[in-house]
Amino acid sequence: MAEQTHPPHFSATGSRAAAVRLEGLLDTHHDPAYGEAVQVAPLVQRVTAANPSPFTFAGTGTYIVGGPQVAVIDPGPDDATHVTALLRALEGRTVTHICVTHTHSDHSPASRALAAATGAPILGFGPHPAIDARRGAGESPALEEEPGDWDFVPDVALTHGDVLAGDGWTLECLHTPGHISNHLCFALAEECGLFTGDHVMGWSSTIIPPPDGNLGDYLRSLQLLIDRGDRDHVYWPTHGPAITSPVRYAGALLAHRHRRTAQILECLRDGPTTIPAMVVQMYTDTPKMLHPAAERSVLAHLIHLASQRRVTSEPAADERATRYALA
Ligand SMILES: [Zn+2]
Repeated sequence: MAEQTHPPHFSATGSRAAAVRLEGLLDTHHDPAYGEAVQVAPLVQRVTAANPSPFTFAGTGTYIVGGPQVAVIDPGPDDATHVTALLRALEGRTVTHICVTHTHSDHSPASRALAAATGAPILGFGPHPAIDARRGAGESPALEEEPGDWDFVPDVALTHGDVLAGDGWTLECLHTPGHISNHLCFALAEECGLFTGDHVMGWSSTIIPPPDGNLGDYLRSLQLLIDRGDRDHVYWPTHGPAITSPVRYAGALLAHRHRRTAQILECLRDGPTTIPAMVVQMYTDTPKMLHPAAERSVLAHLIHLASQRRVTSEPAADERATRYALA
């Protein structure tokens, strides 16, 4: 699921201005070939579910990794047509691992149907974070993010550094919280490729929905990927096309967040204000229907700035009336 990007309203400051602009790198050309097994690398195929939306782009891309024995990454939404297409693509092969990057409803629910059909274990970081129940209370969460998959329970709990060994492939688990606290990326050493889930996507930046979504975690998880250097030649996100200049792209995402932070501080320089007022000022090119999502993104930035003691708030009964000020 994605955060809307737009041309920055304020200019970036400092050395980060030299970083490549995210807007120039976004790639929205993508042929999902719904229901077909598309070969994206010698060891990797992708079958895309027909669940396009403003948050899932062209839909959920389920990856099949291996040869005669495979891992499946992000089985996708609870959608019988997609599960049927996936099982067709898996015919004649054995599924040994069902891996899940995180517990949003466009990623993990089909793991149950796939496990029932194949007998393979489901592997993931853990259940959907309980704190997420607070998110969007009284609002319209559907406009902010895909809902949680509250029924998800992995057969095997994965943690950072775990290595899954299959038939001719290995997947190393990287814990990458930020978008959601239970997010994992999977590194396929044999192809120098990284399955990035919703942590890094090529068509848009990622939304960080508080309270479970955490910008500080997200920035650290981006740095984790950047620090891997040229170990990853390609990123395969769950939504959209492959990213073929991964480190440059992750650096642009980082710079994008620093620019957003600079924009917010610029808004606050004019005096205390609310999130809706800041969104109107900053997201000038974003359709109004996406402003609730933009408001959650600005909130994520403000929570991060408050944790750094750069911003204070006067909480109001209505969260949207809370006024923020420079510390
Ligand atoms: Zn997600």
